[in-house]
Amino acid sequence: MSERKVRVRFAPSPTGALHIGGVRTALYNYLFARQHGGDLVFRIEDTDSQRFVPGAEEYIIEAFRWLGIKFDEGVSFGGEYGPYRQSERKHIYKKYVDQLLNDGKAYIAFDTPEELEAKRSEIQNFQYDAQTRGKMRNSLTMTREEVESLMADGTQYVVRFKVEPGEDVHVNDLIRGEVVIKSDILDDKVLYKSADHLPTYHLANIVDDHLMCISHVIRGEEWLPSAPLHVLLYEAFGWADTMPQFAHLPLLLKPEGKGKLSKRDGDRLGFPVFPLEWHDPKTGEVSSGYRESGYFPEAVVNFLALLGWNPGTEQELFSLDELVKAFDISRCSKAGAKFDYQKGIWFNHEYILHKSNEEIAHLFAPVVANNGIDEPMERIIQVVGLMKDRVNFVKELWPLCSFFFIAPLSYDEKTVKKRWKENSAQVMAELGDVLERLTDFSLEHQEHEVLAWVESKGYRLGDVMNAFRLALVGEGKGPGMFDISAFLGKEETLRRLRRAIEILK
Ligand code: GLU
Repeated sequence: MSERKVRVRFAPSPTGALHIGGVRTALYNYLFARQHGGDLVFRIEDTDSQRFVPGAEEYIIEAFRWLGIKFDEGVSFGGEYGPYRQSERKHIYKKYVDQLLNDGKAYIAFDTPEELEAKRSEIQNFQYDAQTRGKMRNSLTMTREEVESLMADGTQYVVRFKVEPGEDVHVNDLIRGEVVIKSDILDDKVLYKSADHLPTYHLANIVDDHLMCISHVIRGEEWLPSAPLHVLLYEAFGWADTMPQFAHLPLLLKPEGKGKLSKRDGDRLGFPVFPLEWHDPKTGEVSSGYRESGYFPEAVVNFLALLGWNPGTEQELFSLDELVKAFDISRCSKAGAKFDYQKGIWFNHEYILHKSNEEIAHLFAPVVANNGIDEPMERIIQVVGLMKDRVNFVKELWPLCSFFFIAPLSYDEKTVKKRWKENSAQVMAELGDVLERLTDFSLEHQEHEVLAWVESKGYRLGDVMNAFRLALVGEGKGPGMFDISAFLGKEETLRRLRRAIEILK
C-alpha cells in the first residue's frame, strides 16, 4: 500500500431505519480508520429523492452516537471536504458528466421508459450495452443535429456510461482477492438524468469518493456487482492512480444460514434488526431496536464485530479499543455470516457480568423506585450482586428480585403442595426460635447455627430449606437461602417466617 492517508467513509442512503448490516459496515470502517490513524467520513447519499425518508438521517446519527462509533467528519460533524450531503452537491456533478461526454466515454440516450419496456419484452435478457446500443435512440445512433434539436426542445434524456466490450475488468478486493470479470456482461449504466438534473448513485459515489480522497471503500457484499463499473469509471476519469482499495464484507444471513437476513426474520424470531426503535413515518409501523430492547451498546458492537470477522484466537469479549487493535480486514470471511441472535443475547449477559454491580444497580434502581420501593443504593447493589448472573437484560431483574423488597402476599400453590409438609409449620416455628436467638445474623453465622440445629434434630436439610424458602420468597426460586435471610435481616426474616406459618399452618 502507498503512503496515502487512510480515509474511509460510511455513505448510507436515508431511505429508512439503518439495518444492522449497515451498522456492521460502519463499525468495520471505524475500526479500520482508527487502527490506521485515518479519518472516517459520514456522507449522505440522497440523490434518489423518490426514496428519501424524513427522519432517517437523524436516526442514523443517533444510532452511532448511542453505539459510541464516532465520525471524524461529515454530515453534522463538519470537515473540509463538505458539503457531505449529496443533495447539497448537485452543482458539482454536471462537470464530471460533461467530461465523460466530451471524452466519448459516455453518451446521451433518449429512449423513453416505454421504449425500454418494449425492448425488454421483445428481447430476452435485454440489456443496454455494446450489442444493443446501436439500435437504440441515442447520440451514437443519431446525428448531432437531431440530438441538439431534441435537447433544445427540452426532451428528457439520460447520460449512459459507454462500456467497451472485450476487456477484463480487475477488481482488487482486500477480502476476496482479485476478481476479474468481462466487461461484456456489464450494461451501460445511467449516470445522470436530465429530469431532475441529478447524477445516479454510481456517478455521485465515484466523484465524491475521489473528491473526498477516500482511500478504501469498505462496504457490504451487495455492492460487489457494482465494483467493476466503479473501476471502469475511475479509469474513464483518469483517476486510476488514486482509486480506492475495495473490501466487500460478507452478507449477514438468516439465523438458519440460508438467504439474506431480513426484517421479517427479526419479526418471526423476535429479535431487532435495527439499532434503535424505528417509527416508519409512512406506514406508522414501529420496529424494535437494540437500544430499546435493553442491549448494551458495547454488547451490540462486540456481537457485530464478530459477524464476518474473527481474531484467529478464542477471545470473544472485546471492548471497542481492543477491537481497534485486533481487527484485521484481511481476516474477514468471504462466506456469509449467520446472524446468530442468541449469541447477541449471550454477549449482553456477558456484559452484565463484566460491568460492576454498581453500574447495573444504577440502571436497576429506577425500576425498583417505579415499583414504589424506597431502598438505599447499597441494598440494590447487594441484590444485583446476588442475581445478575441469572439475567441477560437488566429488565429481567425485577421479576426475579422483587421478593427481596416485597414480602410474599401469597404462596405458590404447586410449591406449597410439594414443599410444605405436615410438620413444616412446627419445624419452621423451631427455626424461628433458633434464628431469634442469634445476635450475629451474618450469612456465615446463620448457616453454622442452623445446620447444627438441623443435624441435632435429625431433620432432612432439603425439607427445612425448601419450607424456609417458600416462607421467605413465596415460591421455589431464588439464590442461596442464607443470602436471602441475611439480606432481609432478622426482623423481616422472622416476620415472613411467622406469617407463612400462620397462613399455611
Ligand atoms: N449509498 C450506498 C448505500 O446505501 C453506499 C454504497 C457504498 O458504500 O458505496 O449503502
